Amino acid sequence: LSMERQAVQRAKEAFLSGRTRPLEFRLQQLHALQRLITENEAEISTALKQDINRSQYDTPLLELIGIDTEIKLALEKLAEWAAPRPAERNLLTISDEVYILPQPLGVVLIIGAWNYPWALTLLPLVGAIAAGNAAVVKPSELSEYSSLLLRALLPRYLDKDLYPVITGGVSVTQELLRLRFDHIFYTGSSAVGKLVMEAAARHLTPVTLELGGKSPCYIDKDCDIRVACRRITWGKFVNCGQTCIAPDFILCEPCIQGRVVECLRQTLLEFYGADPKSSPDYGRIINQRHFLRVMGLMEGYTPVVGGQNDASQRYIAPTVLKDVPPHSRLMQEEIFGPLLPIVAVSDMDDAIRFINEREKPLALYIFCSDKKATKRMIEETTSGGVTVNDVMMHYTLSSLPFGGVGQSGMGHYHGKHTFDQLSHQRACLVRSLRMENVNLARYPPQDRRRARR
Ligand code: NAD
Repeated sequence: LSMERQAVQRAKEAFLSGRTRPLEFRLQQLHALQRLITENEAEISTALKQDINRSQYDTPLLELIGIDTEIKLALEKLAEWAAPRPAERNLLTISDEVYILPQPLGVVLIIGAWNYPWALTLLPLVGAIAAGNAAVVKPSELSEYSSLLLRALLPRYLDKDLYPVITGGVSVTQELLRLRFDHIFYTGSSAVGKLVMEAAARHLTPVTLELGGKSPCYIDKDCDIRVACRRITWGKFVNCGQTCIAPDFILCEPCIQGRVVECLRQTLLEFYGADPKSSPDYGRIINQRHFLRVMGLMEGYTPVVGGQNDASQRYIAPTVLKDVPPHSRLMQEEIFGPLLPIVAVSDMDDAIRFINEREKPLALYIFCSDKKATKRMIEETTSGGVTVNDVMMHYTLSSLPFGGVGQSGMGHYHGKHTFDQLSHQRACLVRSLRMENVNLARYPPQDRRRARR
């Protein structure tokens, strides 16, 4: 038996033992997970420094606080989330007990991506634990230091059989995908998302797919461009552009393009200084393959800001490109790196058309002071989520379902949404054996009944 198979088998047996059913057990595991985060913050930050040169300040801000918030919410609300909800009755069931009972699914497979290796594995895990599931956690092989640390830490805090961590590359993930799970929660590229769904289909396993795509950012000429560009610069270049909901490109009218470029340039100077390479706040590309891919996207274009690079460090300077043609390679695939192309559109309608002609994005950002126009743009487009006059902030709210639509994914999570996603909403009807007369109308033989009339 392979190691993967054994771990999944043990998780399944542990689930069937029934020990995840009492809420006290789930609460105790969630408390332990919370301790894992608070007691190991420094080690986690160091691992990310080694993986992507992430600033030590950014790791709590971008990942750990969010995980802690979600754990606190689950601890506070679990009893409410897990409680049976009464449902409406009709004439035939008027004296029955009718309710919806959230129940665990069984063993969940969580496959994470490397760009936020803690949040993308532990946020789904919080929901899996809260919902009473077992979960096999497969962190990405690309964020190696984080993955190994996660594998070392998790069994020290959580039930070893219920929540195993399995590390390894593509072949390990493929081996896991051959096995049968009760739900697969995948975060990563759309290309691999298709493979995951294909593998899941063989067992009729439901999936949540948190994928990526090109998230547009529209800047209306009617807005405070300085503030808009500061917010965009943060969202685009944090984590060196390797964020699934980073603004991928800017759409704006040609008349404000010059000012947008100037404001981006100034903000970059404020954030990372004249030499971003020596800034402790600026990251690196995850590996050589992605470095070459991102560099390749720029080929044939002259940046107006940045463009410098150093392959030995996998460093690419924060880069802005203007007047980028819609058919260029830069505009075909998700950039997932520190390049920010600006594409000219003639007005908001043109921007809406541009967005609707392409795949449904994971996020959409609109910078505009006109509330009516903003609402219209939200109405007339679609995306997993949308933030107006800022970037990425919709992600931080547990009350909002986070996920994609179309090619950017299916299913959603955060807060109660994760709990619901990883629960079975069981339909329950409980009646008594009395009042049999009411039922006679449905029993055969029907002709005898007609004869009685
Ligand atoms: P990755 O390469 O680390 O892959 C993620 C997981 O898929 C890993 O565990 C890996 O082992 C597995 N995998 C890779 N190739 C496979 C194959 N051929 N068969 C089976 N399994 C395979 O991560 P990535 O895909 O480079 O992640 C970046 C992408 O993820 C971007 O597109 C980004 O937008 C998206 N993303 C989405 C979210 C979200 O929440 N929606 C969050 C972060 C990243």
